[in-house]
Amino acid sequence: MRHPDRREFLRCSAALAGSVLLPGAGRAALGPDEKYDLLLRNADVLDPSQGLRGRRDIAMRFGRIAAVAPSVAPDSAQRVMDAGGKLVTPGLIDLHAHTYPFGSGIGIPADELVAHQCTTTVVSAGDAGANNIAAWRRFIVPGGRTRQYAFVHIALAGLAGFPVPELYNIDYAQVDATARAVAENADIVLGVKVRMSENVIARHGAEPLRRAIAACERSGVAGVKVMMHIGGVSDRALMSTLLDMLRPGDILTHCYSGAPNNAGDGTNIVQDGKLLPAALAAKQRGVVFDIGHGGGSFDYTIAEAAIAQGCVMDTISSDVHVYSANTPGMPYLPWVMSKFLAMGHSLEQVVAMVTQVPARVIGREPKLGTLQLGAPADLSLLEVVEGPVGFVDSRNNRRDGKVHLRPAGNIVSGVAFGRPYQAPFSVH
Ligand SMILES: [Zn+2]
Repeated sequence: MRHPDRREFLRCSAALAGSVLLPGAGRAALGPDEKYDLLLRNADVLDPSQGLRGRRDIAMRFGRIAAVAPSVAPDSAQRVMDAGGKLVTPGLIDLHAHTYPFGSGIGIPADELVAHQCTTTVVSAGDAGANNIAAWRRFIVPGGRTRQYAFVHIALAGLAGFPVPELYNIDYAQVDATARAVAENADIVLGVKVRMSENVIARHGAEPLRRAIAACERSGVAGVKVMMHIGGVSDRALMSTLLDMLRPGDILTHCYSGAPNNAGDGTNIVQDGKLLPAALAAKQRGVVFDIGHGGGSFDYTIAEAAIAQGCVMDTISSDVHVYSANTPGMPYLPWVMSKFLAMGHSLEQVVAMVTQVPARVIGREPKLGTLQLGAPADLSLLEVVEGPVGFVDSRNNRRDGKVHLRPAGNIVSGVAFGRPYQAPFSVH
């Protein structure tokens, strides 16, 4: 996926601003000989970034949103697609996925996830380290249509060796090399991933996290973040120590993990039913709480207690990879979103947590995560399926719901996955 540079974006914005905007009509005017590239009709639009909900037609041109209006004439577009009243949101963003096939031990091609995830943007969460991020960038990202970003792993080889833990040997955690990888790829690398559970770092305590933070700082790139994976850590106090080290904007992924440590002890953010004060303090100073459901990292009992005591997640993500995707918790993004609907969160809240909020965390592509005019024409179509449904977390706790979301289509940069085909099939 090509990322327009800032100058190009400003030019584009200026062009949009220069065209005549019909007040309230939500569209940029077309010239007499111009047509939209694609028109999506009969969409039940939900865009939390604008507080927008309702039946709309969405027109796209040159890869961007060109009109959102109650009705757009079909003959104004070269191709027309009928949403059939399905839910249409800004393209779903998965802040924690594993999309380095052929290069990491657990990666899946991002485009193969679309049918199950409805994602238009994914973040590769530490699949690559400083030694192999260049191959991800050169050979994986341009080969697909899904928009991609990454956290580079503090361990040099990322998750290439999975399931062999990458940080048993602390020498793999190299600050200088990682800082360079962040700086050299700052357009698509968001920061540094570190897995801090005991089954990954053994008894290295807080040292891997210390190095991940140091790599962010040494990169010299403003705003780069640590994404810290948690699970069971070696002792109860260590979890509070780690939480205290996170800076505003850093990301706590697997925030509701209930995975025990190697001795079988519960050392998560909720211990004996009580939320750790360090977790609440982290939340209050702006640490991003991310789900990262995965195959072993989402526990209803932790989630319910944490939410009740003040730690609502900020972002919903899948942690989908070749192992987790086969587990009963089925951590595909719309299914994980559905679990939170069943827990009482509104559709608007849940959609914001996979569009507007992760877009803000990414902070690269202007207007990602919204359907405003000039935004990237990334859309997800979802079916809201009414009826009794059962879910399990990654520890086999069961909860029931009344509705779930099913992927129903996807458009990236104004080009649908499947029909109607763009002619020529050129994408940027
Ligand atoms: Zn993961």
